[in-house]
Amino acid sequence: MQADPTQVAAYERIELALGDITREHVDAIVNAANSALRGGGGVDGAIHRAGGPEIMAECRKIGYCAPGEAVITAAGKLPARFVIHAVGPVWQGGGADEELLLASCHERALELAREHGCRTVAFPAISTGAYGYPARLAAPVALAATNDALIRLPRIEKVRFVFVDEEMRGVFEQALALLEKSA
Ligand code: ADP
Repeated sequence: MQADPTQVAAYERIELALGDITREHVDAIVNAANSALRGGGGVDGAIHRAGGPEIMAECRKIGYCAPGEAVITAAGKLPARFVIHAVGPVWQGGGADEELLLASCHERALELAREHGCRTVAFPAISTGAYGYPARLAAPVALAATNDALIRLPRIEKVRFVFVDEEMRGVFEQALALLEKSA
């Protein structure tokens, strides 16, 4: 018998994995996008390269997404059904609402996923690349926001955070262990 997801603690629905997010077989992958939705380097570039021009065509129509928010498009050639473009904050030292904005882009991404019937979602470590958010500060914020959203969204069964390197996974593992202890 399958476990009833509403009976499972939210943090138990969070997984940490190594790999390339564009290869994830989930309902939606989350892109670390910029406000102009114009693609770029890092995970954003990888998603548009692997997914093909259909994703950018939809992004152009949408045109803009504020930091802390998220928008959704189809996923082109990717194995996922949707790409959710979430805009994290640029790190400016911590005094410019970075924590709030990082938390809210995770929550908005998961709300959008739910509105589109997604049960499984994969996230990269938003803002920790070109946007300069220190990973050890970003990890607890990203995980706590995800945990809070999962409590409110019991139909989302699994959230996978996917990292390209072991070091980043280790940082998130430590933060997840602390979250479990405090739960
Ligand atoms: P941001 O501008 O939000 O900082 P980046 O794309 O520069 O976004 O980086 C976000 C994180 O995504 C970084 O930790 C980077 O190592 C990681 N990343 C880059 N490519 C991929 C990929 N193909 N799959 C998963 N994570 C990736």
